[in-house]
Amino acid sequence: MTDWIARANALTPETRLFIDGEFRPALDGATFDTIAPRHGRFIAAVSAAGEADVDAAVRAAARAFESGVWSRADRRQRQRVLLRLSDLMLENLDELALLESIDSGHPIGDARGVDVPNAARTVRWYAEAIDKVYDEVAPTPRNALALVTREALGVIGAVVPWNYPLIITAWKIAPALAAGNSVVLKPAELTSLSALKLAELAAEAGLPAGVLSVVPGFGPVAGQALGRHPLVDKITFTGSPAVGRGFLSYAGESNGKQVALELGGKSPQVVLADVDDIAACASSVAWGIFYNSGQTCHGGSRLIVDERVHDELVAEVIKVGRELVLGDPLNESTQIGAIASARQLERVLAYTDIAESEGAIVYGGRRVRPEGLDEGYYVEPTVFTGVDNAGRIGQEEIFGPALAVTTVRGAAEAVRVANQSEYGLAASVWTSNITTAHTVARELNAGTVWVNTFDVADVITPFGGFKNSGNGRDRSLHAFDAYTALKTTWINLGDSPLSNN
Ligand code: NAD
Repeated sequence: MTDWIARANALTPETRLFIDGEFRPALDGATFDTIAPRHGRFIAAVSAAGEADVDAAVRAAARAFESGVWSRADRRQRQRVLLRLSDLMLENLDELALLESIDSGHPIGDARGVDVPNAARTVRWYAEAIDKVYDEVAPTPRNALALVTREALGVIGAVVPWNYPLIITAWKIAPALAAGNSVVLKPAELTSLSALKLAELAAEAGLPAGVLSVVPGFGPVAGQALGRHPLVDKITFTGSPAVGRGFLSYAGESNGKQVALELGGKSPQVVLADVDDIAACASSVAWGIFYNSGQTCHGGSRLIVDERVHDELVAEVIKVGRELVLGDPLNESTQIGAIASARQLERVLAYTDIAESEGAIVYGGRRVRPEGLDEGYYVEPTVFTGVDNAGRIGQEEIFGPALAVTTVRGAAEAVRVANQSEYGLAASVWTSNITTAHTVARELNAGTVWVNTFDVADVITPFGGFKNSGNGRDRSLHAFDAYTALKTTWINLGDSPLSNN
């Protein structure tokens, strides 16, 4: 077995801002500490971008865009660079995975097997799309030609959260760059290291200076500066609903830039009485909430279960949860790693008291200290039963390994309770009846619905939410479109002026 702890200790991560093709400290020299959730100790001091640094990154991005070095480059050139970047990510798999694991608390097995390969595949997928997406010719009269073409928007500000730093970054920068835009990326303050490595690899792949800058820093400073900058054409944001709404204000108060939001969730896993295989369903329900310690925006944090299968299913979910191997993210056998920060740990644990005060029965819900990791941030898989869906446990996004179980009778009540939420990111339904499956899937108010499964995902399908879960869509060719604007060009092919009829 690889000694990941020794390899992590030997790392010397890049910590400076990456602006206009160069790593450099913040102009005022400010830094912030990044901490490893696995043991709560200091990893490195990362440069904290101030307003002037963000301004420099945005101006470099705008200059690069205007110069055409990337925006008007031969499409195959853009494709070659992004394919090379995808290859480099895989060539640097171990280092990227280690950075992701120590910074975010993801198990090294997930970082190597899921996070880095998924991000690299996303970059490759959009690179390949570059010469496969065609524009349109409108059905005009014969004396005219009307072209509808996609044009890159300009400067994209990408602001991302800490729960899947590399994957979510790739969802945003890959289609934005493939379409010819320049990007300024602000990673979450808890997890900047993999983004800085990505910047280094992008430069090595041949991405011209200024086309991708990375500005770690605090949300209210660096994030806000990006959101308010008049030269940013679009913000693509993933994070909490409150901050997302802030970006809408920044846009309204500055240049009216576009804002695409991917926000929180409280996704229901609906299990009906005719579910086929309770054991398979229980395993899926458990993984649907406990994977990544529940720090997943579409995590299946509500179980809406028919009372006729409640006891058997819940007993099985608790059993699966207890069997999951929780421990040091740098141990290859760990399945469930750490919570991303001390603050998030506190927040998650507070919900155990809230659940008790609301009359729920609590299974788990405590802090765990794996051997030798007394200061690390770990919470055991938690199940709250007897939850009133209208209460805080049923409504609030906990963003931890906590499942709220609510009992219903029949599909109609299940759908009503499932939809009783401010969020609409994802949902699942378990049934053996195909008509029920289709009907319930149609009725569930969510951007993604899974039938007899959970959390199947790929870059080939769009991802995003309804209601307070946001308005944007990452992934798929729809995301490619999101980083372009349509341009119409009318050409007169006749001898006389074109008329409107
Ligand atoms: P957050 O909103 O606190 O932070 C997200 C990003 O916004 C970070 O980069 C942060 O620095 C920045 N930010 C914070 N305050 C800011 C401000 N005042 N102005 C500008 N920028 C600011 O969210 P988080 O805690 O990092 O992430 C967890 C949230 O993200 C959860 O709500 C989760 O559901 C959501 N999320 C959604 C999706 C999705 O695709 N829908 C995916 C992952 C996470």
